[in-house]
Amino acid sequence: MGDRPDISVVAPAYNEASVLPQFLDRTKAVLERTGLTWEIILADDGSTDGTRDLALRVRQDDARIGLVSLSRNFGKEIAMTAGLDHSRGRAVVVIDTDLQDPPELIPDMVKLWREGYDVVYARRTIRNGETILKRATARYFYRVINGLADRPIPADVGDFRLMSRRAVDALLQLRERHRFMKGLFSWIGFRQTEILYERSARAAGDTKWNYWKLWNFSIEGITSFSMRPLQFSSYFGFLIAIFAALYGIFIIIYTTVFGISVPGYPSLMVAVLFLGGIQLVTLGIIGEYIGRISTETKQRPLYFVAEAFLGAGGEPESDSHDRRPSRHASAGLNRVLSEE
Ligand code: UDP
Ligand code: MG
Repeated sequence: MGDRPDISVVAPAYNEASVLPQFLDRTKAVLERTGLTWEIILADDGSTDGTRDLALRVRQDDARIGLVSLSRNFGKEIAMTAGLDHSRGRAVVVIDTDLQDPPELIPDMVKLWREGYDVVYARRTIRNGETILKRATARYFYRVINGLADRPIPADVGDFRLMSRRAVDALLQLRERHRFMKGLFSWIGFRQTEILYERSARAAGDTKWNYWKLWNFSIEGITSFSMRPLQFSSYFGFLIAIFAALYGIFIIIYTTVFGISVPGYPSLMVAVLFLGGIQLVTLGIIGEYIGRISTETKQRPLYFVAEAFLGAGGEPESDSHDRRPSRHASAGLNRVLSEE
């Protein structure tokens, strides 16, 4: 492999054929203006709409545009990780292909990177083209997660960001299967800063999000970065116990003063059902964590690469799947093998 380009742009793409040409034009124009060397890596997340063919056609004119095609749809987080795994730049920009993240911001990010920041993330000030409900849920999401998570996650920040090589290498060492990227980005630390921008509506195509996905995404975020829900049952149980003890004392006093009264059926039902409900909720919470433990312990690779066209050569890499071992070895056998 030759020299590292200055900038790698990693763009996960799932059925983005309708915006891809526009995306590449705009991004290339911006990158050319910076005067730096660059590569664009499209992480094709099992698209079925010709995204791959389109990318390869563009690549024939410009080999700086690379393609990593995953063996199926793995979801944005994994696609992004695959792109990062294959990126070589001294700094890497992660950006959506649908042009909701304006590539025009890249020069500003580069400037801050040159000033010594390792992570420059873009924070949106306005969310155009999003419903009030989506904005409200987003706001609420950050409030909840920051109340629970051990590390703060900046609000209104997506995946759009520039990372220095060492930040990328750090991030890529986190190989958990449940990839809550916002949390991972924050967890690695280093010098981080933000730039503001207005988020525009999608240029074309459809969002792949719906409320069910967003809900699961939130659960993902909470369970990946907080153990607090697990403590919930202990605290709640403790409270109930205190309450029960007080009530017991009350009954003893009441009975000694007023004699035995007829026990109330409704209050009994309420207590039983309420506690039953709480127990089920608690079981569910524990189940969420156990489910995650189970997927993590399988130690499966994060993804499989079907084809990769990278660098100047046109030969597809056929055997590359999870490139974890070769990625972080700073020297030694792994590197020799992977770069042979
Ligand atoms: N994406 C992906 N795999 C998926 C879903 C989405 O690689 O399974 C990509 C998609 O092509 C886009 C980015 O992730 O470049 C953001 O997706 P989308 O626009 O659907 O999400 P939103 O902008 O609504 O958060
Ligand atoms: Mg989008």
